[in-house]
Amino acid sequence: MHTADCIFCKIVTGEIPCAKLYEDGQVLAFLDIAPVAPGHALVIPKLHCADLFDLPDALGAALLAAQKLVGRAVMTALGATGLNVQQNNGVSAGQVVFHAHVHLIPRRDGDGLAL
Ligand code: IMP
Repeated sequence: MHTADCIFCKIVTGEIPCAKLYEDGQVLAFLDIAPVAPGHALVIPKLHCADLFDLPDALGAALLAAQKLVGRAVMTALGATGLNVQQNNGVSAGQVVFHAHVHLIPRRDGDGLAL
């Protein structure tokens, strides 16, 4: 089910465009609109879940599988040597979009990022 006022639900339905990297029946991955590093991607469940705690366990497995697939592909494409996998839950933790999502941030030695 999609929520009318959720920006990521609108990306899932195609109402808002995205730079799509991967899609299957349960999961969508696309480039972050404000990347902190080249190739910064987001992996989201198509089902609206507010955060990790709202995410059904079975869907979490599909989300993890997509993270591995997309993370490897982005690293290979960019020649990255590491990957940060980050997930923010709650305003205090920096969550801005309340549709569960995982950040994949490609890293390389000496890139200067402080995450
Ligand atoms: P959060 O702080 O973990 O909630 O991260 C939300 C992320 O969504 C941020 O990194 C934003 O740049 C990203 N974002 C917000 N709107 C869009 C969009 O329309 N397309 C792609 N990424 C978005």
